[in-house]
Amino acid sequence: MSDAESTLITGIGELVSNVGEPNDGKPNDGKPNDGKPGSFAAMTDAALVIAGGKVAWTGPASRAPAADTVVDAAGRAVLPGFADSHAHLVFAGERSAEFAARMAGRPYRAGGILGTVEATRAASDAALRANLRRLAAEMLRQGTTTFECKSGYGLTVRDEARGLALAAEVTPEVTYLGAHVVPPEFAADPAGYVDLVCGPMLDACAPSARWVDVFCEDGAFGADEAAAVLAAGQAAGLHARVHANQLGPGPGVRVAAEAGAASADHCTFLTDDDVDALTSTPVVATLLPGVEFSCRQPFPQARRLLDAGAVVALATDCNPGSSFTSSMPFCIALAVREMGMTTEEAVWAATAGGARALRRTDIGHLGVGARADLILLNAPSHTYLAYRPGVPQVAAVWQAGRLVAGAVP
Ligand SMILES: [Zn+2]
Repeated sequence: MSDAESTLITGIGELVSNVGEPNDGKPNDGKPNDGKPGSFAAMTDAALVIAGGKVAWTGPASRAPAADTVVDAAGRAVLPGFADSHAHLVFAGERSAEFAARMAGRPYRAGGILGTVEATRAASDAALRANLRRLAAEMLRQGTTTFECKSGYGLTVRDEARGLALAAEVTPEVTYLGAHVVPPEFAADPAGYVDLVCGPMLDACAPSARWVDVFCEDGAFGADEAAAVLAAGQAAGLHARVHANQLGPGPGVRVAAEAGAASADHCTFLTDDDVDALTSTPVVATLLPGVEFSCRQPFPQARRLLDAGAVVALATDCNPGSSFTSSMPFCIALAVREMGMTTEEAVWAATAGGARALRRTDIGHLGVGARADLILLNAPSHTYLAYRPGVPQVAAVWQAGRLVAGAVP
């Protein structure tokens, strides 16, 4: 359809709109809001009109206006497209042997992140682009209509800039992660590597990026180094996000809060002070349960964060080492089954939560005026995403009003 044409999706068994009032948890009848995501909200027997790439109307199916094209959802659920706010998709090679060894409890010495760095540096642009596009298409088929994509497997000026330029071909949410790990050639001079990340590498990367990120962890970058990387990125016009508190307690969340970061990601090991920092600042706690699943580690304490009032997002952390899933439905199922989140909280975190973590107000909800990024499930409600784990249930995906994956009857 052209942007001038309108599409009515009617017969929606459950329309998840996320246009509830902030934190009151009550359903909303789909009336226009201020254009921002609210709390989880859903209505039954609903309809939605797309026009000009945006949501033009929502309400009871019995009152739906006419449109150029009519799609009958036949009692199935419609949700906002997923917003995956954390992914590492620019890489070459794979690490299935490392995963198998980890699952078998066998020691495994080859590579890790640095193995992927070596393969990525050696890969052609065409090979990296093909892998990136394959993963982006895989995400789209599973209902992810917005994703963030990091560099971090190049770790030279040339390779980081190349990775970000490739990422910018497929998403506007591009993140400079030169501070992923210290590469082997700087093993004896980590401070020199931080200078490179904050200097010439940043200069080469900032034009392609919106975000700056740092892996703040023992064995990667400490608090002072992380703060320096974020400050340099911010001075170059980038916005901050942080890999924080993944492998153990540490300063990551505090660094994120002090830098005014949009999100602290992982949040697996948190002190009470960390939880306070996440509730008293706008920093989103982005949980990545695919990592704990794939590394057989304890899951983050989502319930503790939610009960304290933190804003929680869910994302895949799709990468070839610690979490090689691109599936937001899988992360929702883990969050519900393993992390004590309700189905409503998990779906909100995977849609509106991801939007918050990316500081986007045009996505993550289906209020009037939102970008028409939405999915039709082969199921009557959002609950089925956790109730039927591992089953492909995304029937159709619209992005900015265009049907981009799946099919409608
Ligand atoms: Zn990550």
